[in-house]
Amino acid sequence: MARKLIAGNWKMNLLRDEGTALARDLALRLARTVDPAFDLLICPPATIIAPIAAAVAGSGLLVGGQDCHSAPSGAHTGDIAARMLADLGCSHVIVGHSERRQDHGEIDLMVAEKARAAQAEGMVAIICIGETEAERNAGRAPQICSRQIAGSLPRGATAENTVIAYEPIWAIGTGRTPTAAEVADTHAHIRAMLAVHVPAEAAGIRILYGGSVKPSNAAELLSLANVDGALVGGASLKADDFWAIAQAI
Ligand code: PGA
Repeated sequence: MARKLIAGNWKMNLLRDEGTALARDLALRLARTVDPAFDLLICPPATIIAPIAAAVAGSGLLVGGQDCHSAPSGAHTGDIAARMLADLGCSHVIVGHSERRQDHGEIDLMVAEKARAAQAEGMVAIICIGETEAERNAGRAPQICSRQIAGSLPRGATAENTVIAYEPIWAIGTGRTPTAAEVADTHAHIRAMLAVHVPAEAAGIRILYGGSVKPSNAAELLSLANVDGALVGGASLKADDFWAIAQAI
């Protein structure tokens, strides 16, 4: 299994100066760490990826996008092609985050096409899935995750070009998380579903947990079987908190 991946999703936060300062701070900590036990990724808003990628080049800190269009170029006002992100030095792209599924009506098929577009440009697609609170309460979390994996995983997904992020929607930004047993169960289920769809790759695909990850719960979550890292929102906006999460491995 590859090293754990600690990914920061900055969402629609931070302007150029504060984002660059945060990225530099993390890059410095990473550069000073001998043989880190994790890969560290930040996904800033698209508007500040270029200066940040330039500022952290050579440090080992990875930079990614929060979304991309599925088309390589063309008449798509306001959208960003995967190739444009790769051109700035991005190694990863988050696709199908629940906020995009909700705010922009993205459905599984679109997510699969975006993931494939990112992979075609040599980047890793971080494909987000997760159930609502009502679905969890109705005992339907496994079915929801199965359906989203079946629909959102592109053909040709490999351990190198694909990461799954399990993010229960009710845990995002709420301070609430599933129990350790629930996370372990769901991640085992996701691994089993991957084995159905991409048998040869399933064992190596990293499955991240996301939703209210913070320094105080990171050690427990990251120690669970089949939890290969974390996708961190709010706590990734503070260098001390994000770094503490990575150190919890
Ligand atoms: P949160 O967000 O850590 O603020 O809950 C996680 C995410 O949406 O990726």
